[in-house]
Amino acid sequence: MKIFRTKSETRAQLASLAGRGNTVGLVPTMGNLHEGHISLVKRARQDCDIIAASIFVNPSQFAPSEDYNAYPRTPDADIKKLEENGCDVLFNPDEKEMYDEEYSNTVVDETVLSKTLCGRFRENHFRGVLTVVLKLFNICMPHCAYFGMKDYQQYLLIREMVRKMDMNINVVPCPTVREKNGLAMSSRNSYMDSGQEETAPLIYKSLTEIKKAYDSGISDVATLKGIGMGILIPGLKLQYLEFADSGTLQKTEEAKTGTLVAIAAYCGKTRLIDNIIL
Ligand code: AMP
Repeated sequence: MKIFRTKSETRAQLASLAGRGNTVGLVPTMGNLHEGHISLVKRARQDCDIIAASIFVNPSQFAPSEDYNAYPRTPDADIKKLEENGCDVLFNPDEKEMYDEEYSNTVVDETVLSKTLCGRFRENHFRGVLTVVLKLFNICMPHCAYFGMKDYQQYLLIREMVRKMDMNINVVPCPTVREKNGLAMSSRNSYMDSGQEETAPLIYKSLTEIKKAYDSGISDVATLKGIGMGILIPGLKLQYLEFADSGTLQKTEEAKTGTLVAIAAYCGKTRLIDNIIL
């Protein structure tokens, strides 16, 4: 695997490989890689000739009160995992390489999808995400880019950015990879102590109980929410449990097949998100 710290080397390498007729798949990450990230690399391998990954803990998507400094950084282990899983090129810039001083003057913003769900609680988060992802796309010029459904709102926003801005990139959603107990894998899971690790799987349990109830014929959202909340409380501090259209993210009162059910909750100080589609 070739490792580059600069945009210019990454661009030159990937452009040269693409110029020789190879398809390029990109897996953007913030590092501290786990099986969820690796599943994206494996999926990219199935579709593309060349696999590029990026590791960059993006400061512009963290609010000042959030965990940018504490975010786990494990570069050596990450490089090993990427090599073992057939990644060809790693782009691993530092902040200075990625952004110039006035970077916040020019951003990618979205005004509807980014305002619901997590956007209600993380002001400017998706602006930071879209801005960095557009930059990564322009540096790497991938044919395909891979995103996890765990971060469903992020996936949808990126898919829509690509569509609305006429970018020629295939945005590929990948299923959420979970621990045996159902907890969605996340770099932030390492913040939790063993007691919290036992509580956190209640989030997925809540989602699966909602799905069971829906499958048994209940479609009233208030009733389904009650079932889900009953499982979440008292172990977790709920931020939201919402039912929304999976294309528009607008809230719905009547669940149907294709409805997104999304949860954000704090387990101690760790903010966790998860979702299912009915
Ligand atoms: P992150 O490093 O958390 O920014 O995540 C990088 C990519 O990996 C994003 O597209 C995430 O949605 C995806 N991802 C993170 N956790 C999981 C998971 N448990 N299953 C599948 N994809 C994941």
